[in-house]
Amino acid sequence: MTTALEPSASTVPPDEGRSWWLREALALPEFAGDDAPALQGDATADVVILGGGYTGLWTAYQLKRLDPGVDVVVLEQDICGGGPSGRNGGFVNSYWNDLAHLSHEFGDATALRLCRAGEDSVDAIGAFCAGHGVDAWFRTDGDLGVAASAVQVGAWADLVVAAERLGLADDFEVLSAEAMRALIDSPVFRGGILSRYGATVQPARLARGLRRVVMEMGVRVHERTPVTRFGTGSPAVAETPSGTVRAGAAVVALNAWASHWRRFRRAITVRGSYIVLTAAAPDRLQELGWTSGVSMSDYRAALHYVRTTPDGRIAFGVGGMQPNLARSIGPRFAHDEAALRVAIADLHRMFPTFADVPIEAGWGGPIDVSGAHLPFFGTLEGGSVHYGLGYTGNGVGPSHLGGRILAHRVIGRHDDVLDLPIVDSQPMRFPPEPIRSPGALIANTAIRHKDELEDRGEQPNPIVDFVAKLPRRLGYNLGP
Ligand SMILES: Cc1cc2nc3c(=O)[nH]c(=O)nc-3n(C[C@H](O)[C@H](O)[C@H](O)COP(=O)(O)OP(=O)(O)OC[C@H]3O[C@@H](n4cnc5c(N)ncnc54)[C@H](O)[C@@H]3O)c2cc1C
Repeated sequence: MTTALEPSASTVPPDEGRSWWLREALALPEFAGDDAPALQGDATADVVILGGGYTGLWTAYQLKRLDPGVDVVVLEQDICGGGPSGRNGGFVNSYWNDLAHLSHEFGDATALRLCRAGEDSVDAIGAFCAGHGVDAWFRTDGDLGVAASAVQVGAWADLVVAAERLGLADDFEVLSAEAMRALIDSPVFRGGILSRYGATVQPARLARGLRRVVMEMGVRVHERTPVTRFGTGSPAVAETPSGTVRAGAAVVALNAWASHWRRFRRAITVRGSYIVLTAAAPDRLQELGWTSGVSMSDYRAALHYVRTTPDGRIAFGVGGMQPNLARSIGPRFAHDEAALRVAIADLHRMFPTFADVPIEAGWGGPIDVSGAHLPFFGTLEGGSVHYGLGYTGNGVGPSHLGGRILAHRVIGRHDDVLDLPIVDSQPMRFPPEPIRSPGALIANTAIRHKDELEDRGEQPNPIVDFVAKLPRRLGYNLGP
């Protein structure tokens, strides 16, 4: 039976300041966890980590695994999982979908090393959940790339060619429109590709589970502790409103918020991504044939990413949004009425039978977009401050890899992942303000307009097409 069908289906629910995922997790004692009080007074540590999302927590976890005696402090301005790590779609991807592009950029051997390292992290997240009793709904049912309009058909061609060349053809299955619709019956689906790689999680359960485990390992976590000033010398000094941490090494794991820091301002640009969640409607999913946990995304430049929950909801995400000039990360990144309405309309276009299923929650979060569409990890001059960011909306799996990289860097121990091209590479620089935000808004508006027209089977006019393609023409791996 479908539950709770009400006429208010298309309204945006009031913002409760937290994603549905986080509220679901915090209602359970094992994910609410012990208190992690704000820092009071001055402290010292071997390592201070700025940011209590996946990158910060995986770094703490892997530091403790490498050296149980290392004294680690995590400072989080909100609560762990309050940021994108508790707000995301829960797609746990490696880099296999980017195989063709990576091979082109770095050559086959390096591309394969990066994809395999990403895949190791997906496996390690599953093993972490199983090994530490973290029920984060981890499942590996594969990932679908779907053509949801005529222009998207065949968008997987380069991937197929690369996979065949590298002997990986069996890992990907090209699906006709009929085969695709047999898996998930949307009237707009015109074919796609099924990858055996990829998993999904309940993202906030993963973040909160990680928090519990690192605290059990002896990591001192201080929530509601914003770092207001940061000295990158030796020792590194993190100042907060009610205390200071001095540490021999520091890790900057601030994701999009790093854009507020001069050092990283031009290394990333910030976009918004927004998700709406339906009420549980398992019978409607059954009608669509969508009974496995397979996740899917389409090939728009501002992509849709869609997955289900064990109780039969659809979580429908829209990427590549920009709330106005977005010069800093304000409240509209967490809740933007206009963006959520777009997500609802797009959900109903893709799945018309969900039109009368209520929308129970909607939220968003900031995305740290890098010019190369890849994260970057490194060490500031002086050698004691390490950083990792730029996941560009694909950080759930890769942040585990990031934690592995950063922990080895801090400890000074070699690991093969330190040789990956995402380590010590110079991130592409975005233009400075005041050009950057208006420029990004204009390009982003054109990209989204082009996507919307193409969804309706219409052609963008030459000006829209030109502007939408500008970021790519300028060398950024962004847009169509
Ligand atoms: C709506 C949405 C959907 C997404 N979907 C997916 C998906 O399905 N799959 C995927 O792979 N990726 C997805 N992502 C991206 C993914 O969530 C991120 O890449 C990942 O969470 C990055 O982890 P992080 O720890 O680096 O950053 P965060 O989780 O952002 O952690 C950084 C933390 O730093 C804290 N902080 C900021 N400033 C300060 C300060 N001054 N002092 C102390 N703390 C501070 C923040 O509060 C935050 O908790 C999505 C993101 C969003 C917003």
